[in-house]
Parts: sequence; C-alpha cells; structure tokens
Amino acid sequence: MVNNMVGQNYNDVKENVENIAKKSTRRNDCVTLIAVSKTKPLELLKEVYDAGARDFGENKVQELCSKYDDMPKDVKWHLIGHLQTNKVKYIVDKAYLIHSVDSEKLAKEISKEATKKGLVSNVLIEVNVAGEDTKYGVSCDECEELIRKIAVLPGINVKGLMTVAPFTDNAEDNRPIFAKLRELSVDIKSKNIDNVNMDCLSMGMSGDYEVAIEEGATYVRVGTSIFGKRDYSIHN
Ligand SMILES: *Cc1c(COP(=O)(O)O)cnc(C)c1O
Repeated sequence: MVNNMVGQNYNDVKENVENIAKKSTRRNDCVTLIAVSKTKPLELLKEVYDAGARDFGENKVQELCSKYDDMPKDVKWHLIGHLQTNKVKYIVDKAYLIHSVDSEKLAKEISKEATKKGLVSNVLIEVNVAGEDTKYGVSCDECEELIRKIAVLPGINVKGLMTVAPFTDNAEDNRPIFAKLRELSVDIKSKNIDNVNMDCLSMGMSGDYEVAIEEGATYVRVGTSIFGKRDYSIHN
C-alpha cells in the first residue's frame, strides 16, 4: 500500500505543477518535475517510475551511480547536490544535467572528463541568492564572470541557473529569491554569450515549488511531498 502511495503522491504533485504552470504568466510553458529520491530505496523509485516519472534527482554521486545501474535506461538523472572535483569522472556520462556548478575549477574538471569521453555535459550554475553562509553557490555578482570563464571550455554547456532557497515555513518569504534568480538569468541571457543559454531555471522544493513556478521555474525539485520524510539516521 505504501508503495502505491508514492506513485499517487507523484501524480498529485505533477498535476499541481501543471495547473500552476498553466495559470502562471511567466515564461515557463513547460515545467519539469524532478522526483528527488535521495536516501530512498529502489522499490519506491520504481513505483514513481511506473507512475510516469522519468526525471530523478540525487545529491550524492555514489548513490546516483548505484541507482543508475538498477533503474531503466530512459531515466534522466539530475545531480542536484554539491559535486567534488574528484567525483566528476564517475558522473559525467550518467548525469543528464548537473545543477550544482559553482566554481571554475569544477567546470574545468567536468570539461576535461566530458571531452575524454566524447560528451558534452549540460550544467546549471548554482547561485546562493540569499547569501547564506551554509550554502554552496556563487553570489549573484560573481555569476556572469564565472559563466564567461566556463563558456570557452570544450565539452560543457551552461543551460541556466539553479538555487536552493532558505528553509522557511512560509513559501512567500522565498518569492523575492526566486524573482531575483529569474532576473539574473534574463540579464545574463541578454549578453548573448556563446555556448550559454538561460533556458533552465531550477528552483523550488516541496515547501515552496508553487511560488517558484509562479516566478518562472522550469525545473522543480520535489522530494518529501512525493517520497515522504527522509530518515538520515539509517545512512552514514
Ligand atoms: C533534498 C533536496 C531537494 C528536495 O527537498 P524536499 O524539501 O524534500 O522537496 C531539492 N533540492 C536539493 C538541492 C536537495 O538537496
């Protein structure tokens, strides 16, 4: 019964996402729901897959790689967590989109490993819009400069921006954060940098994805509302 529940949850969230996207006046004609499956067992991922999900998000390289091997090959894997340079080689041929590029050093490693494998790696730049000490990501001010450095590298394409907004009980608190990320992407798009497009805006999680869509998200990353709470005590 529990297993059927996650499939139902996925369909409920998906329907909600589509309804809000339809009503929203922002540029997002199409919002993709990423089922964030970190810490969750394969049986639950398969239930959500059977309900129609093809985009899955993981925040750890090792967990993504092991689930990659055990899930159908038409799954698009999104790496949404911090990526260490020494793990890049395991992930470049498995991640459909890397959401968390925030340094030139990391981008260079992705470029190197992707080129070695004859691939082009699609990435988003993670922006720490709220300037929280505890979060990864470049500041809004550093973003364009980093993008210009990445744009000239082979084997890597910048597709847009991502942010992890502050944790809050009131999603409206994050509306200015999402609006700011959208403004930044519009600003960078207007610079017409070669090899860079700003088609993707990855923002919004279980607590605030509705507001994020209203502010222009094209990817929302939803874990808890689909899979239930995560139990970290059984990991590490
Ligand atoms: C875990 C995680 C999510 C999903 O969070 P929920 O609140 O469970 O929906 C989204 N984005 C990132 C980067 C995450 O690490």
